Amino acid sequence: MSFTTDESLVPAGLRTAYCGALRTGDTGRTVSVCGWVARRREHGEHLAFVDLRDHTGIIQCVVDGARDLRSEQVLRVTGTVRPRPEGTANPALSTGEVELGECEVEVLSTAEPPPFSLDARSETDEAVRLRYRYLDLRTDRMQHNLRLRAQVNSALRRAMERQGFVEVETPMLWTPTPEGAREFAIPSRLQHGSFYVLPQSPQIAKQLLMVGGLDRYYQIARCMRDEDLRADRQFEFTQLDIEASFVGQAEVLGFVSEAVSEAAFAVTGEQQPEIVTMTWNQALDRFGTDKPDLRFGMELVDLGDAVAGSELNVFKAACVRAVRVPSAGEWPRSRLDALVERALELGAAGLVWMRVRAERVLESPVAKFLSEAHQRQIVAATYADPGDLVLVVAGERERTCKVLGQLRLDLGQPAVSERPLCFAWITEFPLFEGMDDDGHLVAAHHPFTMPHPDDLDLLETDPMAVRSQSYDLVLNGWELGSGSIRIHRADIQRRVFKALGVSDEDAESRFGFLLGAFRYGAPPHGGFAVGLDRFVALLAGEDNIREVIAYPKTQSGADLMSGAPRPLADRQLAELGIRVVPTGAPGRPGSTGSPRSLGSPGAAGSPGAPGPSGA
Ligand code: ASP
Repeated sequence: MSFTTDESLVPAGLRTAYCGALRTGDTGRTVSVCGWVARRREHGEHLAFVDLRDHTGIIQCVVDGARDLRSEQVLRVTGTVRPRPEGTANPALSTGEVELGECEVEVLSTAEPPPFSLDARSETDEAVRLRYRYLDLRTDRMQHNLRLRAQVNSALRRAMERQGFVEVETPMLWTPTPEGAREFAIPSRLQHGSFYVLPQSPQIAKQLLMVGGLDRYYQIARCMRDEDLRADRQFEFTQLDIEASFVGQAEVLGFVSEAVSEAAFAVTGEQQPEIVTMTWNQALDRFGTDKPDLRFGMELVDLGDAVAGSELNVFKAACVRAVRVPSAGEWPRSRLDALVERALELGAAGLVWMRVRAERVLESPVAKFLSEAHQRQIVAATYADPGDLVLVVAGERERTCKVLGQLRLDLGQPAVSERPLCFAWITEFPLFEGMDDDGHLVAAHHPFTMPHPDDLDLLETDPMAVRSQSYDLVLNGWELGSGSIRIHRADIQRRVFKALGVSDEDAESRFGFLLGAFRYGAPPHGGFAVGLDRFVALLAGEDNIREVIAYPKTQSGADLMSGAPRPLADRQLAELGIRVVPTGAPGRPGSTGSPRSLGSPGAAGSPGAPGPSGA
């Protein structure tokens, strides 16, 4: 194990040194170290080597006299630092050149044998680690990840404060907010039948702070969404939430860029290049997704011109695009057939593969239908070399791009831990992203998102063509967060609500307190939220956010350590005015309609609303 040792740490209390900080330069010092027994090896009856661990690392203590020392016992060891005997240094440890000799040992706390070996973390079932999370937290991986997380938080705070942002805590007991996810409800003891809602985000609260003149707000905010859990989603998550007045998109992007770059620098020690910006349309055309991974090439290529005039019917589609797979020209037929299957599964009408050959240009089931000129044009457009493979999909634009975008990821995406960090801003998302079951438009972000000023006229005539002033931040193919310039004008808000099928009454009952506040002078404003669990996971090179959360829940929403959720005692239920309906009875979760439809009171937004939690 080797932890990062901060040499400037000043030990206090029971200890005069940290385990991981001792070096040959400390030879001759008598020190007291405290920690847990990581390992012990006995040499004869009277000599034991005890590896003592604290959060900075491990020190070998040579203990004379037989003692009943066990793994994970808590000791205070006082001894003298000395070089290890010739040939016994351990280069795997930062303290591997030294040991503590002439040790006096004080057992501060005994320990039962741990239910899993901390040295065998990767072979231990995650359920066991989560049940005994306090033991798992002692491993260097968890120590590293949680300390890295704290470093990120502190860098973000520094950057926000430098930019004039004020930290404000918004309520946890609140009322529905518009992100569109299912909400956690908290029964009111004082008003039976009424409920608070745990915030999906501080969205409305932060907009009201702008009306209240706070000007620039930030918060490292906890948010709760009762959505199915995945590797990148928990019920509760943390976001860097910000809102600012009298600013446009460029300023918001600037604030957030500075904060995430500072955090990335704090962790990696490397300055981040300026973050690239592309529109949603450009991202779709080039990468087939709104969260492009820019760590690798294989960009989508428009073959429209290259195949123009071809006799091949499939190439007469609205959109013909390709991806070049370097050095895949020798892949066996079975692998190519599997790619065709995958494309069909993803919704393509088909997939054409082309092996690039030096002499015959292309080898492909469709080669005989393509003139030599067309073949050469395809090779030129994709910049393919002999030995490469070219995959072509044709059809409707969005579907074609998305299928190729997924194939690009399937075939080329590096592992999560692979560097560099490639941030990207995606702007000009469509305002709406489809229809709900009631035939109403669905907001792509949330209903307070300002339409693009050039598209305002299309709101009633061609709403799906309306671009929004919303933007996402992407890192290595993960959506890190989203934000928007908000609607601060009642007339525009009314038109957007109308398009979303929200009646004046409905809007009043759900967001009345926000709309009411807007009558008393709302500054133009906009904001953003960065999903911190995902950000920290990427910085730590972890592909599962549970690895960067102290006490995460399992896929089924359970906290295996505390046993939550649990039934409440009858007395407590009575106090809350709650009667539990047995499983399977009407009214149980899942027996009612979709809670996400914007048309249904009490829940707002869209099923796919982009957000830091990936809702
Ligand atoms: N409240 C939004 C979200 O959590 C972020 C924002 O628009 O600022 O997705």
